[in-house]
Amino acid sequence: MNTKLQDNVAPCGLVCYTCTGCNHGIIKELSGQLLQYLDGYEGLVALNWAESLPSVESCMKTLGFWESQNCPGCREANHQCQNKDCVIRYCTREHGIDYCAECSDFPCSKVDENNEFLLYWQAANTRIRDVGAARFFEENKSISQYIRYKQQNIDIRLATPADAEGMAEVHMRSWESAYKDIIPSDFIREKNATRPEQFRNMINVENNSHYVITVADRIVGLVVVDSSRDDDADDRFYEVHAIYLHPDYYRKGIGTQAMEFAYDKARRLGKSIITLWVLAENTNSIRFYEKCGFFTDGKTQTLNYGKDLVCIRMRKDLVI
Ligand code: SF4
Ligand code: SF4
Repeated sequence: MNTKLQDNVAPCGLVCYTCTGCNHGIIKELSGQLLQYLDGYEGLVALNWAESLPSVESCMKTLGFWESQNCPGCREANHQCQNKDCVIRYCTREHGIDYCAECSDFPCSKVDENNEFLLYWQAANTRIRDVGAARFFEENKSISQYIRYKQQNIDIRLATPADAEGMAEVHMRSWESAYKDIIPSDFIREKNATRPEQFRNMINVENNSHYVITVADRIVGLVVVDSSRDDDADDRFYEVHAIYLHPDYYRKGIGTQAMEFAYDKARRLGKSIITLWVLAENTNSIRFYEKCGFFTDGKTQTLNYGKDLVCIRMRKDLVI
């Protein structure tokens, strides 16, 4: 069958070519070939290898099932994608584009937390934007679709020296986005210029407080958790020293998962109170922390970020 790139890669970035349901994919093709070459072998297997291959019939049945699959891809009306109400499919068509990567609004908020393909869509289309759909297909056509789908989950792990550049990138983009109306832009620029070196020096082999948040191996955020730095804190206290997300990954539930990670770490250390400091003018973050169950505890400090800014402390009592 003659297939176009668009038949092999869906608008969300799913690689139809490796999907078990695809009528022009590799699984259907290879299942058909195996059935052809294994035709008639069941009897021989029963005779000679009954003990080693007790499930040969169900194996043939599975191959037959995959060989019969008939989804033409979601660009066709009779597609069989499980994501029936998928906005990506309709929206790319309305925009007259093949992939969200080509859209000036990407990554948009139309694809939200309710879409089970959210992080997959974002990671895949970011890659398509960076290298083009043809190369994206080449990179992924030999990988299990299911494994890639599972990889859409975020991972949080201790940062290593090799992560310094990615962490600096997240930190810089996050400051530009979150603080643009709060901290003077000259100060942000000046600080951003130092970030790559700062992270290179900071993340060493003994790091045990800086974590990176990754989606499909891309660093999309960082979270720093450690003992509280406050002079009124006793040994019940733990602190989220920093949490930054790349702006492309805002409002996708990643911040909430990162906070859950911090609570979990605190609990395992026997801590019952977790605190953080936030700029009083950073109302978006304050709203997010309130949603997570934090409240302001009245403690404040003034820091200079190119101008004096008040920081407030927020606190959450952990259920152990
Ligand atoms: S319907 Fe949506 S989720 Fe399914 S393959 Fe198409 S774009 Fe991807
Ligand atoms: S608006 Fe969103 S869903 Fe629609 S094409 Fe652009 S990025 Fe894709």
